[in-house]
Amino acid sequence: MTDLLKMTAVEARAALDKKSISAVELTDAYLSAADETAALNAYTEITYDKAREMAAASDARLAKGDAGVLEGLPIGVKDLFCTMGVETTACSNILNGFKPVYESTVTQNLWNDGAVMLGKLNCDEFAMGSANETSARGAVASPWTVESDDQNDAPQEYVPGGSSGGSAASVAARSSLMATGTDTGGSIRQPAAFCGVVGIKPTYGRCSRRGIVAFASSLDQAGPITRDVADGAMMLQSMASHDLGDSTSVADPMPDLLAGLEDGIKGMTIGIPSEYTMNGMDGNGMNGDGMDSQIIALWEEGRKWLEDAGATCVEVSLPHTQYALPTYYIVAPAEASSNLARYDGVKYGARVDGDSLDDMYAKTRAAGFGDEVTRRILIGTYVLSAGYYDAYYLKAQKTRRLIQNDFIEVYKKVDLLLTPATPSAAFPIGQKVTDPVTMYLNDVFTVPASLAGVPAMSVPAGLAANGLPLGLQLIAPSFREDTLVKAGRVLEKAAGFSASPSRAAGQ
Ligand code: GLN
Repeated sequence: MTDLLKMTAVEARAALDKKSISAVELTDAYLSAADETAALNAYTEITYDKAREMAAASDARLAKGDAGVLEGLPIGVKDLFCTMGVETTACSNILNGFKPVYESTVTQNLWNDGAVMLGKLNCDEFAMGSANETSARGAVASPWTVESDDQNDAPQEYVPGGSSGGSAASVAARSSLMATGTDTGGSIRQPAAFCGVVGIKPTYGRCSRRGIVAFASSLDQAGPITRDVADGAMMLQSMASHDLGDSTSVADPMPDLLAGLEDGIKGMTIGIPSEYTMNGMDGNGMNGDGMDSQIIALWEEGRKWLEDAGATCVEVSLPHTQYALPTYYIVAPAEASSNLARYDGVKYGARVDGDSLDDMYAKTRAAGFGDEVTRRILIGTYVLSAGYYDAYYLKAQKTRRLIQNDFIEVYKKVDLLLTPATPSAAFPIGQKVTDPVTMYLNDVFTVPASLAGVPAMSVPAGLAANGLPLGLQLIAPSFREDTLVKAGRVLEKAAGFSASPSRAAGQ
């Protein structure tokens, strides 16, 4: 069983083809792994029966020789994706009991390609957070721990990052082979970096948003969280599609991501943006301290790895980077306040009765939303209100355009950008939960690509002195996921990241 859990998705898919393993066997191994690592709280629900049924159907298709590209591969689904007949709550009490009558386009694409659903994965409430601590289902613990100085104390527990914390934790803990994530301002890349796995946020519009619980619609994108780059490329290929059910879904077909994966980056020019040192990131009270020197060293090493592979690295400037975080924390809450207006106790999930219709709305929303979601609704409503709209929301939209233009300009000179994925390694559970602004700083390196809509990925690249994973981020021009994964593969090979967390299954 341990060997089953050790295979990457690409390896498992090949083993299924050769019939050296069966989909039922593989799925059972992952269901047991999910039970074994239940203390991490990565899953909100394990769909045992559905998983076994889907795996048996996969084995039947494999036997008949009409298997799909993801046939028999067990996948965990972030609880933000609507799954037909399976409770979907975005880890919010306001959606308690909501069982969608339809499947999200992205998960349907995965099932159409033969993947097996293991269950739903914990996340921050409505995907708002950077530590998976705002979930109404409780915090997720990272499978990575750090020994305490005192031998008698239990190891220190760390956050897995967020909002796709359950996804990243389960892939790292080997309780899912691959997992879906969503990324609005970093929620795929940051938890992937904290957990030592690969996370890809594709170009805005690549993956349909139909059936994904909306947070900030102009930013939300689905993407894969996987053990390695090849698995990420394979899974993203299946997730992406043109969908008339999402008016922002793009028609351009995704290039074949696996075909050129090993082609290397010889002759490419890679930009190293000088602003990503966090110096000068102190606009609007966003204090720039806290950039870890270990991350700077890793970034430098990453640059050498890319140069050794035949790329030329050049310093570049994205002059509006310092405004990305404040811009994001206006645009995202504005859209959230509008998107979350639909939860009124009438259409979905939970209801708290009241003396009048208005009273019922107010009581339902007060009981149903957690603190962070309430904070975002308040900020969003404020920046959209008459009198403040021009000063905040409109200004933020203009700044967003300037940030986007920075990327358009820089990609006239370079093929890709290399940056750190996060300003620090993971932090202990509870450390930042009471300080929202410090928490928001986690997203400082991931938010610019989200505002610009360009694809980006985080690749595990090293370990901090305390043994926790660190990631590097690659950012590509729109629709160049092929370049992105090629360079990701180069970084992955050079970094040779092979550490595994202390709380993984099957050891
Ligand atoms: N951490 C960011 C936030 O709280 C990003 C979340 C996300 O990408 N879903 O908004």
